[in-house]
Amino acid sequence: MSLETELQNYWMPFTANRAFKKNPRLITSAEGIHLFDPSGRRILDGSSGLFCVPAGHCRPEIAKAVGEQLRKLDYTSPFQFSHPGGFELARKIAELTPPGLDRIFFANSGSESVETAMKMAIAYHRANGQPQRYRFVSRELAYHGVNFGGISVGGMIKNREGYGPLLPGVVHMRHTQTVKNSFTQGQAETGADLADDLQRAVDFYGADTIAAVVVEPVVGSVGILVPPKGYLQRLRQIADKHGILLIFDEVITGFGRTGAPFAAQTFDVQPDLITMAKALTNGSIPMGAVAASTKIYDTITSAAPDDVIEFFHGYTYSAHPVATAAGLATLRIYEEDGLYQRAADLAGPFQAAVAQLRELSMVTDIRGYGLLAGIDLEPTAKFGQRGYAMLKALFEAGLLVRVTNDTVILAPPFVAEVSDLEQMVDIIKRTISQL
Ligand code: PMP
Repeated sequence: MSLETELQNYWMPFTANRAFKKNPRLITSAEGIHLFDPSGRRILDGSSGLFCVPAGHCRPEIAKAVGEQLRKLDYTSPFQFSHPGGFELARKIAELTPPGLDRIFFANSGSESVETAMKMAIAYHRANGQPQRYRFVSRELAYHGVNFGGISVGGMIKNREGYGPLLPGVVHMRHTQTVKNSFTQGQAETGADLADDLQRAVDFYGADTIAAVVVEPVVGSVGILVPPKGYLQRLRQIADKHGILLIFDEVITGFGRTGAPFAAQTFDVQPDLITMAKALTNGSIPMGAVAASTKIYDTITSAAPDDVIEFFHGYTYSAHPVATAAGLATLRIYEEDGLYQRAADLAGPFQAAVAQLRELSMVTDIRGYGLLAGIDLEPTAKFGQRGYAMLKALFEAGLLVRVTNDTVILAPPFVAEVSDLEQMVDIIKRTISQL
């Protein structure tokens, strides 16, 4: 079959489809921190897939658990029925979340987790006698998935424009990337006062109209924006003062990326809701989840008689048996292989390696935290063109990265060695010099 025929039916997500078909990048197998193309060429996975494969590809433990589950119980309705794996995975996740964030609701992706958390916030206030709290406060440059709630609170223009009026009542705070803080490694000393944008929203719209403030603790998809010191704490204080819930979207940061199971622990700030997905199953089977505080769960469930459904929300595949088996096997690997600690230990050498790229004149900023780094390249006349060229050139050079506009994002697997991390940076350095 010709390549043209092979590629004719698939409409690819977030891809320049017509350009791709002229120059396809196909992956046919993977192992550990490497991917392989159809010719067997080895490509280093510099972004853990899409931030979701920290334990390395094709872990046999996960394959075994998934296979056994498929033979034992492939599916059961999660509405009014359940299976032991759902309960067990919820308990395991609750052991990892900050104390008090103990109720786990399952979804199938990051986007669905965000919608779920937003609906929980509104349902909580309604159950609490405040149905007028419908507004969300979020941030410019945020990524919260692609469903209508998520693009409404999201701040990536391309994801929002052209889709109509979106959810009413969303207010965007400024993002935290400032020229002054360029090339800051880790958290910047200045910028916590940007959290006062939440207070401005309260002053302007009235606290009693605001359901929740939703932020990624470290902004991921837009290019790794690290919260300035004290910023998340200040958001928490303002939210507390006005009865506003704080949602951390940890779809990227969840399960170790910042050196602790959740960024809430890394930055020592307790949100009311945490969304997660990606690394929950090491990328193997789609799954997302929301961890809700006991207060939210109790308020929503106690508002209804005990034989009535309390929260009208859920998915056919919530707590899918195969996904829960993959999740349980994954969390066992993280624990037994000490991968949270390993991520913390690798962060220093990783950030030091990435910092070397500073010397290249094309690099205009580098930001990073834990095993996340964003490297900004000077744009050409056409915004995003250089980033796209880099994505293709790096792939040719044997490195898979995530690129957003003109920013190269690295998010290596936690099982990488320091020499692998250095190799990733070397490939970027060489490729930029050749570009
Ligand atoms: N929230 C955040 C913070 C994300 O980074 C992403 C995905 N990059 C999502 C939500 C959406 O996740 P998904 O693509 O699984 O729907």
